[in-house]
Amino acid sequence: MEYNIALVKGDGIGPEIVGNAVRVLEEIGRQYGHTFNFKSYLAGGCAIDACGTPLPQETIDGCLASDSVILGAVGGPKWDGLSGDLRPEKALLKLRSVLGLYTNLRPARLYQALREACPLKESTAEKGFDLLMVRELTGGIYFGERGYREGKFGPEAYDTEAYSELEIRRIARVAFEAAKKRGSKVTSIDKANVLDTSRLWRKIVHEVGMDYPTVECTDMLVDNAAMQLIRDPSQFDVVVTTNMFGDILSDEASQITGSIGLLPSASLGDGTRGMYEPIHGSAPDIAGTGKANPIATILSAAMMLRYSFDLQAEANKIETAVDAVLNAGWRTADIVGDSGVTPLTCDQMTDKIIEEMRK
Ligand code: NAD
Repeated sequence: MEYNIALVKGDGIGPEIVGNAVRVLEEIGRQYGHTFNFKSYLAGGCAIDACGTPLPQETIDGCLASDSVILGAVGGPKWDGLSGDLRPEKALLKLRSVLGLYTNLRPARLYQALREACPLKESTAEKGFDLLMVRELTGGIYFGERGYREGKFGPEAYDTEAYSELEIRRIARVAFEAAKKRGSKVTSIDKANVLDTSRLWRKIVHEVGMDYPTVECTDMLVDNAAMQLIRDPSQFDVVVTTNMFGDILSDEASQITGSIGLLPSASLGDGTRGMYEPIHGSAPDIAGTGKANPIATILSAAMMLRYSFDLQAEANKIETAVDAVLNAGWRTADIVGDSGVTPLTCDQMTDKIIEEMRK
């Protein structure tokens, strides 16, 4: 098969990590007879420098014309002083919105080989965990009415949250479909003791759940969920939640895996095109030093094969190779810990993964 992939490398370590994901995809292409056509587009700080805007129209058009998008990361201190629509992060929000990507999938699992990097108690880490966070991405408080006004105590700012039944129903369906293929358990996170949007959220999630009798569905308040993720993350399979709660909880979930450099993500809409990116940022502190861990981006490419192109064997091939390389003790600087192992560079780690894929 032939696939057109838009590469939005972005800033900082973006070009290094995306370049290494491309090498892995080219190896998949060679082994399974697929052709991946890559075309690069600017977004973020590099686009501000080159075109005066964080998301040039050419990038939007190129992504819309592609079968899928791989994104590195955007932003850095050089552009921190800019405000409003000129900030590099605006490119991400707008890209998600024009591509209609309302679902964010973030798997978080503890690699047993990296257990010592897990900040949880040994007795908790021993049990391991493997959860999938399903976050609503284009609704809720981040997109609600906002502004400044004169309030009871003087000038004030406000943001509002609104969720339509449609928005809740479609994200709930994604969660139940995912649970069917995993551990058959959905935990829906809300704040139904306080918020009307959460009460509607809870009602609609359960309505959707009726169509999935084999999937267990439980509700959890967000404050409890924040605690439970630390107390016993092994209790979770698929977690579904709103944009803001998902933003916070998915970072918490990533932290308990031990390294930000390992975690991939997928943003999906109604069609097959998605945007795949590591959960970390552009890491300007290590850009150009070779210290970036390419695994999160390589696993994001594996998610693209799985979710956008339905290439399950090919995705498994990459994921199994990453497991094997970590089990064999190879490490990049961010996950070397106290092991005493000499860390590999970004390119060397990718070499090891490709070597493993050839076995
Ligand atoms: P960050 O994720 O870039 O870095 C946090 C820490 O983790 C740094 O010490 C960094 O060196 C390390 N790190 C991150 N990715 C790594 C990797 N692959 N391998 C090894 N170490 C890694 O977060 P930050 O420092 O808060 O933000 C830096 C810039 O990135 C900011 O401009 C921020 O706005 C932007 N950002 C972009 C995205 C995105 O594009 N999706 C997400 C978060 C932050």
